[in-house]
Amino acid sequence: LDLTLEDLKTIGELGQGNGGTVSKVEHGPTQTIMAKKVVLIDAKPAVRKQILRELQIMHDCNSPYIVSFYGAFVADPHICICMEFMDKGSLDSVYKKFGPIPIDIVAKISLAVLEGLTYLYDAHRIIHRDIKPSNILINSRGHIKICDFGVSGELINSIADTFVGTSTYMSPERIQGAQYTVKSDVWSLGISLIELALGRFPFADSDDSDDSDFNDFEGTLSPHNADSTVHYGRPLSLQPLPPSRPKKKDSKASQRDKRKSRGVSLEGGGMTMSILELLQHIVNEPAPRLTPEGKFPIESEEFLDLCLKKDPDERPTPKELLKHQWIILARANGVDLEQWASLL
Ligand code: ATP
Ligand code: MG
Repeated sequence: LDLTLEDLKTIGELGQGNGGTVSKVEHGPTQTIMAKKVVLIDAKPAVRKQILRELQIMHDCNSPYIVSFYGAFVADPHICICMEFMDKGSLDSVYKKFGPIPIDIVAKISLAVLEGLTYLYDAHRIIHRDIKPSNILINSRGHIKICDFGVSGELINSIADTFVGTSTYMSPERIQGAQYTVKSDVWSLGISLIELALGRFPFADSDDSDDSDFNDFEGTLSPHNADSTVHYGRPLSLQPLPPSRPKKKDSKASQRDKRKSRGVSLEGGGMTMSILELLQHIVNEPAPRLTPEGKFPIESEEFLDLCLKKDPDERPTPKELLKHQWIILARANGVDLEQWASLL
């Protein structure tokens, strides 16, 4: 398929991320609806050509768990990537609109993402590098697919040079400067699944917030506290952090924190952890867990504890996790994703 800008008619905007904008478009000659991602890149023509060459690998990524690729082209000074349109959008917008996602559905999501990651790695030696709810998409047939994986080293470089990533799904070893491995994706998956099941991002500032209503989150998530994301401080280039001591807390607050087991608290309307504090928190504090204990199936708790092993040597690979009991149960559970998607 030879894609050109002129053949693509914009139907509407789907969303904006750090690196660019995604729109719903129709490709005139084939009457195909697509999602067009425009990435702003400050790179020389030679580098852009290299990026385009690298993106061609995506033509070979064919799996029911991977968003399909129609093609990419340069539209100076941008790069346009055209992919399968997923009409129910990304899972972050799903939980922000409808609240926490039922754990049986989260199990199916987990299964789909693990299948996608295993395919990318086994068939192409690709590590995703950006697993998070906004990169897990669903359509009205109930298909769940991942997108925005790191096929192009040059693209990753160009974006990293220009933008500060939302690095909050980053594993402790990555924050400390280790190489990406498939296990870093598993950490990001663990954080994402907890976020979907709880209906909120699992890291938040626990130091100076009044946490009296922390347990009221369930079912109360409105579109208006959808901004429970980190408020970034000034832009900051990511460099390995030295390990540091956890901050001292006053004794009352620290007791409350202990009682809340390993969950990290979140202020009602938003939170105030800087990106640096968050990264330090990920490195120094215990990993988040599915809480309260006992609310979710034991297999799901166990699965997520494995995903969030801070030592990557103890963390399983996606392929190993496909054999976990929670995933085996998910394959067999009678949940009808198409029916669930129709409610979105
Ligand atoms: P970041 O830039 O930090 O990675 P992001 O993933 O939200 O964040 P984009 O990848 O630019 O940013 O995507 C923006 C939004 O567009 C997504 O949140 C998603 O809701 C929507 N979107 C992306 N790809 C598609 C697609 N293929 N079909 C439907 N909607 C999509
Ligand atoms: Mg994305």
